[in-house]
Amino acid sequence: MQKWEEFNELIHSDSKRFVLLTHQNPDADAIGSSLGWKMYLQKKGHQAVVIIPNECPSNLRWMPDYAEVITFDETNDTKAQSKALLAEADVVCCLDFNALHRIKELGALTQASPAQKVLIDHHLEPEDFADFVFSDTSKAATAQYVVDIIKALGDAHLIDQPMAECLYAGIMTDTGSFAHNNTTEAVHLAVAELMRTGLNINKVHRSIFDNNSLGRTRLLGYVLSEKMKVLPEYRTVYMTLSQAELRRFNSEIGDTDGIVNYGLSIENIVMAVLAIERRDEIKLSFRSVGDFSVRDLAHAHFDGGGHRNASGGRTNTTLEKTVEKLMAALPNYQAELLEVKK
Ligand code: 5GP
Ligand code: MN
Repeated sequence: MQKWEEFNELIHSDSKRFVLLTHQNPDADAIGSSLGWKMYLQKKGHQAVVIIPNECPSNLRWMPDYAEVITFDETNDTKAQSKALLAEADVVCCLDFNALHRIKELGALTQASPAQKVLIDHHLEPEDFADFVFSDTSKAATAQYVVDIIKALGDAHLIDQPMAECLYAGIMTDTGSFAHNNTTEAVHLAVAELMRTGLNINKVHRSIFDNNSLGRTRLLGYVLSEKMKVLPEYRTVYMTLSQAELRRFNSEIGDTDGIVNYGLSIENIVMAVLAIERRDEIKLSFRSVGDFSVRDLAHAHFDGGGHRNASGGRTNTTLEKTVEKLMAALPNYQAELLEVKK
């Protein structure tokens, strides 16, 4: 493959200036795949820096080299620094997202940069903006993709423990700790490559999942006991959280991640929805089991998308109106929801 040869040459060329970008509200796969790829590029003699659009949750900041990550919207200085880095970059790598508009101002800066662009991602329907496109929805995580690319480049031996910790964190979280259907043989082979370094998987698991603030744990209890509405006729639960409620629990960025999944732990429930009042919009998270596509629902009614069983969307109205919108959409999906095998 011509492009692969060119990519191989790029990676094996003399030192280049790489900038790595990942999505808004970065999760463990976003940060983990970016840091793993950054460390690899540095081992190949390149300069590499990771820029994230906004702050990441505190339970991801333990990752090796996180201290070097630049948060674009933190201060005017970090914005100026990011702009300069993008303008001077030879190569910009975009990890774990599929469209430049999803990183807002950074997306426009990337478009304007003369650098070559590389996309490494596992979401559906990638935008056509990169010179080198690694887009494969059969990869459970972008971090798995990074492992596979490093292997294909003949450099598996360069993977060390700090890289392995970052990449494992991405694979572990995007597979729901190896429980989702995306956990393939190839996932375990990639993990085997990481474990060869002596990686402590229990440490990574605890760093991410047993590192919650008290506020987050109390918020979870509150949502599940007070805010979760069950709609048995649609085998659906939905939850809402207002700004006032988030403030009451001193909610920090990332504190609401994962809450929506608890809806699916209830017997017979096949779809869970969480609507959160953010500063400028209502952000929705959808989760489903089996064949029911929350991606289609998010796309058709909530200006969103994602994966079949995990998607997101938004509205520009109130929480009450958002719930009304959901209630109006549900009858269209009732027959399908009742058929889902759980
Ligand atoms: P979350 O509920 O965790 O925010 O998102 C779940 C999944 O849906 C993630 O893979 C995320 O990338 C994707 N997603 C969330 N919001 C959107 C959106 O507005 N558009 C698209 N295309 N994907 C989204
Ligand atoms: Mn991912």
